[in-house]
Amino acid sequence: MEAKIQPYQYHFIKKQVLTLVEAYQHVSDLTTLQALQSITADRIHEIVGHDYPEIANLIHTVSDITLRKNTANTILANFKDFVIPFEIPSKARLSKLFAKTKKLTVPDFAQQLDPRDLSYLGWNDPGQQQKFITAYHDDTLIGVQGHLATKTQPGFCAICQHHSEVSLFLATTPINYDGTYTKKGDYICRDSVRCNQQLMDPLNLWQFMENVQNK
Ligand SMILES: [Zn+2]
Repeated sequence: MEAKIQPYQYHFIKKQVLTLVEAYQHVSDLTTLQALQSITADRIHEIVGHDYPEIANLIHTVSDITLRKNTANTILANFKDFVIPFEIPSKARLSKLFAKTKKLTVPDFAQQLDPRDLSYLGWNDPGQQQKFITAYHDDTLIGVQGHLATKTQPGFCAICQHHSEVSLFLATTPINYDGTYTKKGDYICRDSVRCNQQLMDPLNLWQFMENVQNK
């Protein structure tokens, strides 16, 4: 079985490794540094498991070598080789998913994004003040769309659970057959690329998508 990790796992690993690089800049005691290395390796193992020897070897390097910025970048690039890229849906598939939107504006994702960074695909249509979010849940493509406030402020994002530059997202969902609508929403990162880099647990993403759909 070929070794694989998910994008959110990669971002978790990256955060741990960069925190360790930070520690090297501030801590000089070798025993403390070795302990930090070992804790970091354990944390990574905890999230990626023990199934793949190639990944276990890579985790071992985290606790084995002196971590400087250069070596850290090499280690992270090696981890990235194992990431399962997000499968970006075709424009036709997105148009079907967001069928309520007559003229769906779909950016050229292939030019702009590294699919290995993505746990979900999110983009803004500033002209319409709309945000579109799509992700796979149990291999099914799901999507939510809604109004994105123009105002951006520092705050907590309901998707990535980080402090970030957030805007109020309000999904418009029909609640009755008589055509009345309810609006449910939350504050989320305006920039979905950044949000993906901060997303380390997809449960929060699925929870958010379910909550705003009012199901
Ligand atoms: Zn976020």
